[in-house]
Amino acid sequence: MNLQSLIIEIASYLNVDEREVRLKLINSKEYVAHTTINWIPDTPEITISANCLNNGVLAHEITHALMPTKAIFFGEGFANMMHAYTDKNCNFLFFSEKTLDEVVVKYYQRDFPFELLLDENYDNAKMFAIEKFYLMDNRLGYAVAGSFCNFLLLNYPLICREIVKRRNFIPSNFLEQFTNLKVKDLKQQWSDTIKCIKVF
Ligand SMILES: [Zn+2]
Repeated sequence: MNLQSLIIEIASYLNVDEREVRLKLINSKEYVAHTTINWIPDTPEITISANCLNNGVLAHEITHALMPTKAIFFGEGFANMMHAYTDKNCNFLFFSEKTLDEVVVKYYQRDFPFELLLDENYDNAKMFAIEKFYLMDNRLGYAVAGSFCNFLLLNYPLICREIVKRRNFIPSNFLEQFTNLKVKDLKQQWSDTIKCIKVF
């Protein structure tokens, strides 16, 4: 794997600027993959334990590095989108489907708290808490955010660039301003796109 070529590939996929990224490999038996959120022009640093280093994990962390944001939904959404895209499967979320869209179509239920994923007031960090990774709703949350972010990028190619530029915002307000659509209409379009007809 080549860090530089992954950075170029991901920056172009997300339509954001390339940045210098520092990669620190550590020897830990634990699964460690973490990126400091460093605002431009400071250099972001990725720390990965050697035992979990692969292109998918690296792509996930490079996304955080190239697209610094405090909005967890977009940070984790786009990072998981790139992770699945690079791996060409969703094994890292313990799903056997090949794409995040397929995971959503198969497992999303009407009562899934989609709006809470976007809600920083509710503390959506709880929805993305890594210690709850064994729970279905937690893993599905990552898949939902990833699939939805993929839909956003396909329809609004400059969205990642705008996220980097704005820094602080409330995710649902940002989405409605940027797209001129209500979140519920975006959600409907997303479900129509991935043919998730049975659940919405
Ligand atoms: Zn992440």
